[in-house]
Amino acid sequence: MHEASLAGGILKLVEDAARREAFRRVTVLRLEVGQLAGVELRALKFALEAIAPGTHLEGARLEFEEPAGQAWCMTCSQTVVLAARGMACTECGSYQLQPTGGTELRVIDMLVADE
Ligand SMILES: [Zn+2]
Repeated sequence: MHEASLAGGILKLVEDAARREAFRRVTVLRLEVGQLAGVELRALKFALEAIAPGTHLEGARLEFEEPAGQAWCMTCSQTVVLAARGMACTECGSYQLQPTGGTELRVIDMLVADE
């Protein structure tokens, strides 16, 4: 599953940071998952919780921010809100849309503990 490999990538990032900065565990992990990132939030949360035991992520609280999707419409030349990929422009019904926001999946920051 797509989300499982994303969770693996996030865990690797956390473990690399733990090695570099020598912390014991993550208490809070904040992630940004844009509405156009193509990620099922519930599946990602589930996948992260499934791989957390025995890692620095064990017991961490997961917090998600979900910025709304935005796109530039090439037909009516304006920025519109796009709830999901593949939807039409809310202003003119065109499909000539270039996503400009809400496409990211990234770690915003993490709170860590030394013991
Ligand atoms: Zn439009």
